[in-house]
Amino acid sequence: MAGPAGDRLIYVDMTNQSVRIEPFPDAWKLLGGRALSARILLEQCDPKCDPLGPANVLVMAPGVLSGTAAPTSGRISIGGKSPLTNGIKEANAGGNPGQDLMKLGYRAVVVKGQPKDAAKRYALDVRADGASVKEVPDCKGLWNYALIEHLAQSYPKTASFISIGPAGEMRLRGASVACTDQEQERHPSRHAARGGLGAVMGSKGLKYVSVDPARAGVRQPAQRKEFMARCKTYTKAYQAGPQMFKHGTSTVVPVAQMLHTFPHKNRTSGQSPDAATLDGARIVESFATRGGGMHNCMTGCIVQCSNVVHDAEGKYKTSALEFETLTLLGSNCGIASWEDVADLDRLCDEVGLDTIETGAAIAIYMDSGAMSFGDAAGAKRILREIAEGTELGRAIGNGAAATGKKTGHRRVPVVKGQALPAWDPRPLKATGVTYCTSPMGADHTAGLIVNPGLPPTEYAKASQQAQLVNAVCDSSGFCQFLQPNLDDIRSFYGELYGEEISRESIHDLGWRCLQDEWEFNRRAGFTAADDTMPQCLKEDPIGPAKLVWDVPDEIVRQAYQRFDADEKLFTMKASG
Ligand code: SF4
Repeated sequence: MAGPAGDRLIYVDMTNQSVRIEPFPDAWKLLGGRALSARILLEQCDPKCDPLGPANVLVMAPGVLSGTAAPTSGRISIGGKSPLTNGIKEANAGGNPGQDLMKLGYRAVVVKGQPKDAAKRYALDVRADGASVKEVPDCKGLWNYALIEHLAQSYPKTASFISIGPAGEMRLRGASVACTDQEQERHPSRHAARGGLGAVMGSKGLKYVSVDPARAGVRQPAQRKEFMARCKTYTKAYQAGPQMFKHGTSTVVPVAQMLHTFPHKNRTSGQSPDAATLDGARIVESFATRGGGMHNCMTGCIVQCSNVVHDAEGKYKTSALEFETLTLLGSNCGIASWEDVADLDRLCDEVGLDTIETGAAIAIYMDSGAMSFGDAAGAKRILREIAEGTELGRAIGNGAAATGKKTGHRRVPVVKGQALPAWDPRPLKATGVTYCTSPMGADHTAGLIVNPGLPPTEYAKASQQAQLVNAVCDSSGFCQFLQPNLDDIRSFYGELYGEEISRESIHDLGWRCLQDEWEFNRRAGFTAADDTMPQCLKEDPIGPAKLVWDVPDEIVRQAYQRFDADEKLFTMKASG
C-alpha cells in the first residue's frame, strides 16, 4: 500500500546500476532525515561491514517537512556507516536537493552495492516519472564547481545536484557530499561534511545525483489552512525576534574568544591573537566595497545566515564562510586572515572536504613541526595535494587521526576517530558529554550546550536533552539555525498529517532515533571504552582557570539513561 500522499523510496543497486521504486511505509510517516536514515541503516546495513565496501548503505533522506511551505525546512540528511568513526553517521546539509526530492514525493534515496569496475563513474537522475543510473566518464575527477558548470549545460535550470569532488572519488575519510544552493548558478557550496560520507558515495562509483522537480509544487498538508496560518505566524514571530544568525555564524567569534573556545594552534590555547581579523564582522564589512551579502542557501529559508563572500575584484569566491571554518582552518592553524580562510574554504568545497576535519588535520601536521603555524600558502598547497592524491595529501585528506598516525604527534583531538569542532569541551563540559556519548562522535551539531557555568550534576541531562532536540530537528528538515523547539515541530507535524502529535510522541521519536543509532554502534562493536576524550585534552590546560577535561566517566554515562521529560525539553531551542 502506498504511504502518505503516495510517497516513495528509491533503491539503487550500484552492483548492476539498477533502480527500484517502492511505496514509503505508512508506519514511517513521521520519520525523515536523520531518524529515517538511522532506521534504514539499522534494518538494512550490517553494522560490521567495511564502510567503503559493497555492504555499506548510503542514505539521502530529506526531513519530514521538506518540500512543504514551512519556513527553513528543506534540509537533507546524508547517512551511512562512517569510514572515519566506523559507526553510524548522519551529516546534514541545506541547498535545494532535499526540497526537490520531497516535492516529487521521494522520502529517501537508498544506495547499495558497488560497481565491479572501481574506475567507472556513474550518475543517478531523479525525475517525477522515476530514476535511472548512467555512466558519466566525462565527469571523472572534476572538482565540484567545474562539475556543476559542466552539468548546467545539459540539465534543466530546475535541477539541483548532490555531488562529490576528487576526495570522495579517492575514498578519503575526510570527504564531504556537496549540495547545490538555490542561486541561479547552483553553487555546490552546501556540504554534508562530517564523517567522510563523500568517501562512501565515492566507493559506490556515484559522482552525482540530479533531482529535477520540473514544475512540481510544494507538498500539500492535510490541514492546509491551519498549516499555512502557522507558517505565517511562525515567520512573523521569527522576524520580530533577535534573529541571532542574521549576519551568519561567523559573527560568533568574539563570544567564542571570550569563552576560551576559539581554539588556537591545535588547541594549545582557547583564544587567538587574531580574533579581530577572523571575526565575521570583517566579512560583513567587505560587502560594502566588494559586493556579496547574506542569502538563503535553500528556497524558503527565512534565516538567511549564509554569507556570500567576494574577492577583492568583486567576484564570487565562496559561501558560506562559517564560524567552524574560520576556527579550524584559521585560528587553529595560526592563520590570521579571513581572506586566506575564504580561499581554503573554496578549495575544500571544490575538492569535496570537511573543513573541520581538514583544518584539524593540517593543525596537527603543523604542530608536529612539519610545517609552520600560520603558513597559509602551505595549507593551500596541501589542499591541492589532496586533489592530486600525493602521499601527504592522502594522509591529510583522511583526517585528523590519520595525520596524527603519520606524524606520530601526541596531540590528536578526536573522539571516535572524528576531529573536535571549535566548541571546546574543556570550558563547555556538557558539550563534551555530547562528544563522548553522541553516536556521531565529536560533533557540535549533535547537541551543543554553551553554558560554562553549568554544575556537573546537570551535564548529562543537558547533553541528553540537546541531543534529543537536535535529533528531532535534523529529522524534521528544519535548519538548526531557525532554532525550532519540540512543540513547534510537533505542531507542524500535526497539521501536515491532520492528527494530534503529543509531547510524549515527539519525545519518543527523538529518543528512538538516538536508540537506533546507539544500537547500530553497539552492533558495530562500540563499547564504553570508546566514549572517552583524548588524553591531550585531559592533560593540556587552557584559559586562566587552566581547564582540562575532567568529567568522571560515571557522569558521562548518565547521558544514556532516559531522563523524564520536563517543560524545558519541549521549549528549548535546537542549537548547532
Ligand atoms: S539558516 Fe543558513 S544554513 Fe540554514 S538553511 Fe538558511 S541559509 Fe542555509
